[in-house]
Amino acid sequence: MTNSHNLDDIKKEFSQWMSGHWNPELTLREWREAFVDSGWSVPQWPENLFGRGLPAWSEGVVSAELKQRGAPGLPIGGGTFLAAPTLLEHGSAHLQSLFLRDILVGETHWCQLFSEPGAGSDLAGLSTKAILDGDEWVVNGQKVWNTSAHHADYGILIARTDSSAPKHSGITYFIVPMHQEGVTVRPLRQMNHHQSFNEVFFIDARIPKDWVIGEINKGWTVAHTTLAYERKFGATFGETRTRGHGRAAAEAHDEWVEFMETYKWYPQRAGRVDLVVPQLVSTGNADDVTARDEAMKVISLQRASAWTAERARVMRDLGHPPGPEGSVGKLATSNAARLASHVLARTTGADAMLDSSDDSVEGIVSEVILSVPAQSIAGGTDEIQKNILAERILGLPREPHS
Ligand SMILES: Cc1cc2nc3c(=O)[nH]c(=O)nc-3n(C[C@H](O)[C@H](O)[C@H](O)COP(=O)(O)OP(=O)(O)OC[C@H]3O[C@@H](n4cnc5c(N)ncnc54)[C@H](O)[C@@H]3O)c2cc1C
Repeated sequence: MTNSHNLDDIKKEFSQWMSGHWNPELTLREWREAFVDSGWSVPQWPENLFGRGLPAWSEGVVSAELKQRGAPGLPIGGGTFLAAPTLLEHGSAHLQSLFLRDILVGETHWCQLFSEPGAGSDLAGLSTKAILDGDEWVVNGQKVWNTSAHHADYGILIARTDSSAPKHSGITYFIVPMHQEGVTVRPLRQMNHHQSFNEVFFIDARIPKDWVIGEINKGWTVAHTTLAYERKFGATFGETRTRGHGRAAAEAHDEWVEFMETYKWYPQRAGRVDLVVPQLVSTGNADDVTARDEAMKVISLQRASAWTAERARVMRDLGHPPGPEGSVGKLATSNAARLASHVLARTTGADAMLDSSDDSVEGIVSEVILSVPAQSIAGGTDEIQKNILAERILGLPREPHS
């Protein structure tokens, strides 16, 4: 293994490793196990934890080589995006050894159990309780808007463990096994007809005593780590698709299709900016000065937001902590989505109300209109992003907290 941080050396070493180990006819599981155990799947992680202790930018070197060879990377989802980095930063050695390899190999599915009916933006106001009873924590309460909880083996959960402490101080961060009697997952049907969220009810659900990430009553800090990763990874789904030949790539494709079933409305949620100009032309509005002007604004906004995301990615690759780009980029994406939805509705006219069976670009415009509101809510609302920018970046006075 190299200790060199030279780009060309790392490229060469990984390429040599791939030549010796990548075989398209391996099963996905066989390939992922070799990839994960080699330390190349998360080269920026420490050497004793499936990584190689390389700089953050080495991740980009690995992705580029995988892409070039059509080889699958890590599985996508709450396990790799949220649970694993949180465990890496705050988990005990016991929890790291229990969960990290299975997450990286794609053996387990995870969901995020943070929001509650009375606690979303004000997450620290949560009321789900966990009480220690011998060797187990006993959990009672309700979570909501939990994406993919219906497929999850484990959840990352924040719950109140000290009701007498100030609200940010009495919260603990747990890993909860989802397949148990005390956990009930009820799917929620959305106004765009999709079903990606759930309500999750805990009635005397059990968690082993030491499945706590970080310290008891200090889960708020740990939750912040997860939320930072949520903003960071929110836009990367499209980059993770494998386009190769052979058994491993075919199995990765099936895994992708199954995973994306939950997220197939996300492109509509982002406003389908790609449809704005074709729809302007096909509906005969290409000469309408107002429509052209609005279309131009949407596309400029989207380009600026893509460049902001790229700047954020480069800063991450250089090992810098998350800066204002996350909040600025999220606001820009919301603005572009809203404006795209408006332009698509305007140019499509009354047909925008038709669903897929009645056409109107196969119902996509109506789905855009019904999905875009979620863009400015997921991962922290637009208003909360504005508060973050005002207080942490512009240094304006903090809003009063209860
Ligand atoms: C697509 C999607 C996926 C999601 N996935 C998950 C998941 O997997 N797990 C999970 O736990 N949660 C998930 N959520 C929930 C999400 O985190 C919450 O919906 C979000 O944090 C907002 O909380 P809320 O819905 O309770 O709205 P509220 O917090 O009640 O907000 C209502 C309105 O009040 C405004 N508001 C609230 N506080 C302030 C303030 N201080 N200043 C100004 N305005 C304010 C908000 O901006 C908003 O417009 C998901 C949501 C979406 C849309």
